[in-house]
Amino acid sequence: MSRINFKPAATLREPTELVAQGLVPVEDLPDLEKVAARYAVAVTPEMAALIDPDDPDDPIARQFIPSAGELLTQPGENADPIGDHAHSPVAGIVHRYPDRVLFKLVHVCAVYCRFCFRREMVGPGKATALSEGAYRDALDYIRTHSQIWEVILTGGDPLMLSPRRLAEIMADLAAIDHVKIIRIHTRVPVADPARVSPEMVTALKVEGATTWLAIHANHPRELSDPARSAVARLADAGIPLVSQSVLLRGVNDNAAALEALMRAFVECRIKPYYLHHGDLAPGTGHLRTTIEHGQELMRALRGRVSGLCQPDYVLDIPGGHGKAPVGPNYLSHANSGERELSSETRYRIVDYCGDVHLYPPKP
Ligand code: SF4
Repeated sequence: MSRINFKPAATLREPTELVAQGLVPVEDLPDLEKVAARYAVAVTPEMAALIDPDDPDDPIARQFIPSAGELLTQPGENADPIGDHAHSPVAGIVHRYPDRVLFKLVHVCAVYCRFCFRREMVGPGKATALSEGAYRDALDYIRTHSQIWEVILTGGDPLMLSPRRLAEIMADLAAIDHVKIIRIHTRVPVADPARVSPEMVTALKVEGATTWLAIHANHPRELSDPARSAVARLADAGIPLVSQSVLLRGVNDNAAALEALMRAFVECRIKPYYLHHGDLAPGTGHLRTTIEHGQELMRALRGRVSGLCQPDYVLDIPGGHGKAPVGPNYLSHANSGERELSSETRYRIVDYCGDVHLYPPKP
């Protein structure tokens, strides 16, 4: 019978604390000190309590507990894997698509994910939060680009800001006529559910723009009872919720885990939105799987759960060229033999069991 860890009193930030908590063996300490010198470490009490310290392959530990694998940089890995810098006209803004911008307000998170694509940019000692002047310049950029319909608050985790500061930011954005949607990407409802206080929920709602929240979780166990309560506070306030997950080796790269994760999202009133293929961030190769395996899993998911539970499997094209869907293709042109069966037959289409059908069917 596995043992679930007890809940530490505070966020664990040092490898020595992870050893003391029984989450890593003491002999790993020298390597982990090297990892922690380069990439931030934080495991909230809620996440630490979900880890089974007797399971060397625990899917929660793999996401948050540093490992020596992070010291290896593989070919193609890059400090800015999705090309944020190439599309940043002013500090804090990434303008990749015409109608939307990323607005990066903070560089800190409740937890630091070992696969983070912005791992070179987030954490204490990395870039600092935007100064007041830079914040005003970023707002001016949004104000003077009337095609910007959607502002995506990301970072770092925007819910690390106080409710008072978040309310000010939401009001500043909603006061810009052409900004209709404010989307906030966050891991806080899962990693530190108590931060989703009534004050925080109130701060997220604003006159003049619609708030959407994208909640990041990768394993069904993360949707714990406290996380579900935090998510319910948001949903009850009428805030539409979508999910984002990263496909991670040893965490959710099997059909059962993905199915349970997507079902948990939908049970929590979170519409599955994105399943990201792992980005080429430095030291994350041990957590990536192949696109072929991702497509296989998406095919399996199609056969196991309803359309409500289907995320888009996407790849952020390195260099800042945006997201592309990379899920399986179900439609292809019929071959010449199939076309001979009927002059109308033009396509072959695969059903959820993997069986091939011709379309239109033979009369
Ligand atoms: S919460 Fe998001 S930004 Fe922060 S470390 Fe995790 S993936 Fe990176």
